[in-house]
Amino acid sequence: MKSGSSNGSYDVAVIGGGPAGTTLATFVQRAGFRCVALEGAGFPRYHIGESLIPHTFGPLERLGLIPKLRGSHFPKKYSVRFVSATGEESTPFYFSETITADRAQTWQVERSEFDQLCLDNARKNGVEVRQPARVEAVRFSAGRAVGVRVRDEMGETYDLDARVTVDASGRVGMIGSQLGLRVPVNGLDKASIWSYYRGGKRLEGIDAGETTVFMIPRRGWFWYIPLPDDVVSVGIVADPDYLFAETPEFEPVFLREVERCAPLAARLSRASRAAPVRGIRRLAYRHKQVAGDGWVMIGDAGAFLDPIYSSGLFLALASAELAAACVTEALRAGDCSAPRLGAFAEPLMRGVEVVRRLIHAFYDERFSFRQFVERYPEQKPALIDCLVGDVVGKDMGPFLRALETMTPPPPLM
Ligand SMILES: Cc1cc2nc3c(=O)[nH]c(=O)nc-3n(C[C@H](O)[C@H](O)[C@H](O)COP(=O)(O)OP(=O)(O)OC[C@H]3O[C@@H](n4cnc5c(N)ncnc54)[C@H](O)[C@@H]3O)c2cc1C
Repeated sequence: MKSGSSNGSYDVAVIGGGPAGTTLATFVQRAGFRCVALEGAGFPRYHIGESLIPHTFGPLERLGLIPKLRGSHFPKKYSVRFVSATGEESTPFYFSETITADRAQTWQVERSEFDQLCLDNARKNGVEVRQPARVEAVRFSAGRAVGVRVRDEMGETYDLDARVTVDASGRVGMIGSQLGLRVPVNGLDKASIWSYYRGGKRLEGIDAGETTVFMIPRRGWFWYIPLPDDVVSVGIVADPDYLFAETPEFEPVFLREVERCAPLAARLSRASRAAPVRGIRRLAYRHKQVAGDGWVMIGDAGAFLDPIYSSGLFLALASAELAAACVTEALRAGDCSAPRLGAFAEPLMRGVEVVRRLIHAFYDERFSFRQFVERYPEQKPALIDCLVGDVVGKDMGPFLRALETMTPPPPLM
């Protein structure tokens, strides 16, 4: 095809075939609208972000993916545990304490496989998937998004027209960078470095799939996430000034920190490294707006705060499902203006704000979850709601007011 020529007209063009993009495309296609998902990478492809939280169950069930997950080899996750620098272990926090039946268990997923499941499911639901198809730019006319310019695997470019363009390009943030909308998140400035080991120590029984968080006082924390085939994902999150004070290189910093964290090093004493060391120097960002005339942003393309509560995939799926409802209504009404398309943002952002406050609390040395629960026992269920992801569309006002008495509200986003 000739470069720059038109190659189709759709109701919705989705940039990115990750979990957010495929979720939105599946729901909107099911509602009877023509969706195309444009994925720049060939799948299966590597991605960080392996630990699900229980509240992903709802969107995954509505997508029809729960039977696939049940039949998968992904480790089952029932709990989270914290380990202090001296090796003192908290009692595991089992999700079954507040959630009943099979929703109290979730999974640790290998993203290459999980994302493939999501993409295949979108295809099965009628979404047209083009891959590898890299979106080079969102096309605008009179301030309204009208489609995308795509580069195919042969290096040819072509245009697609769409009534709605959805940015689900993850941290790339296609529309955010094109329109200069990306801003930092006040007070949240962390970096992350991670790798994978084979043969790390596994716990017994239902604890075998738990996420273990190793605390590094005044510095940050490590995740320890068991994956299939005896592999464990290990990563640190800490202040960049601390991490990179001696060298900007990821690998020596990561190995130094693993060695310094004695309880973690003990778990890895018989393990061997199974992958390169990767990292991200600045984790958090957000955008000044998440919808405009003819476009919306979902998942990481909209914002990313911090991985401490493993809320990334949940927020990707939740934002996609909420936005799918707005996109569907807008298409039905023939009005794809910013207020209609962006109506999902307000309830979503109220939930995100609760998570943001709890992230700040986690990094505030004056705050302790144990003391919070002792002082406000009636807020324990709300705290647990936050930790499992049950924060969207709920009144968390009393919880936030209690939190504020122990850790000041962080600067506005
Ligand atoms: C260090 C770290 C640890 C994390 N740990 C967890 C965790 O334990 N649990 C959890 O739930 N979350 C975690 N996350 C977050 C999680 O990885 C993300 O929230 C999640 O992947 C977001 O999904 P998404 O679909 O929005 O974006 P992505 O999964 O990034 O998908 C975006 C897709 O868009 C494609 N794309 C990009 N640009 C283009 C383009 N121009 N054209 C076409 N396609 C394009 C990409 O190839 C990609 O496939 C972590 C994140 C980090 C950084």
